[in-house]
Amino acid sequence: MVPVYGARWGTRGRLLSRKFLFLGPPAAGKGTQAALIASELGIAHISTGDMLRDQVARRTELGRTIETMLAAGELVPDDLVVSLLPDRLAREDAVPGFVLDGFPRTQSQAVSLETLLGEDGLDRVVALVVPEEEIVRRITGRRSCAEGHVYHVSGLPPKVAGVCDIDGLSLFQRSDDTEDVVRNRLAVYLASTAPLMERYSAILVKVDGIGSVEDIKARILAVV
Ligand code: AMP
Repeated sequence: MVPVYGARWGTRGRLLSRKFLFLGPPAAGKGTQAALIASELGIAHISTGDMLRDQVARRTELGRTIETMLAAGELVPDDLVVSLLPDRLAREDAVPGFVLDGFPRTQSQAVSLETLLGEDGLDRVVALVVPEEEIVRRITGRRSCAEGHVYHVSGLPPKVAGVCDIDGLSLFQRSDDTEDVVRNRLAVYLASTAPLMERYSAILVKVDGIGSVEDIKARILAVV
């Protein structure tokens, strides 16, 4: 048997992958923490928001269909989002496990995920808890590069203003990161996504999303 980094072996020698879902309102820090935890554990970071933005940037047929929905902070129809998942979950980097960031966002997507994952299902759901006014402050200061590396103008500034530390690409503000759109995304989250906490109550852990990136990462690592 060839060990896969980040994976562990079950009692009967079966390779167990680690499957996590990060839930939380927009700008709770899901993307930042999902990337850090995935890298720490050697598992894939799967962000449907990044995948959808990539479709928009590449002007694919799907991208042109969903562009206005993303800009308004509306959810993309379930079947369109779900159609992206099988290929992504089958990629090599997801074999030892993955952190799902931004999917599922509705009960119907959760049912589709259960079908895709089969009997093993998710191991742990981490809900990041952040109050609404802090969310608005965070989002309006958020900047990212085309590769999805995320900064904040005051909370997590890049070394050189407007330039990504990792790849030197220019930083920009997402079109759905304005205050009006944020309030809409928050309303959509409360109506459609927050109820998923009930669905996952048996494997749900709530983590305080206020504090430094390192402190929050440590809190999450302690529970996954
Ligand atoms: P995020 O980067 O996770 O905040 O996602 C950005 C936007 O992409 C959301 O406001 C939605 O418009 C869309 N989106 C991302 N994931 C999903 C999903 N699972 N279901 C529907 N829409 C999604």
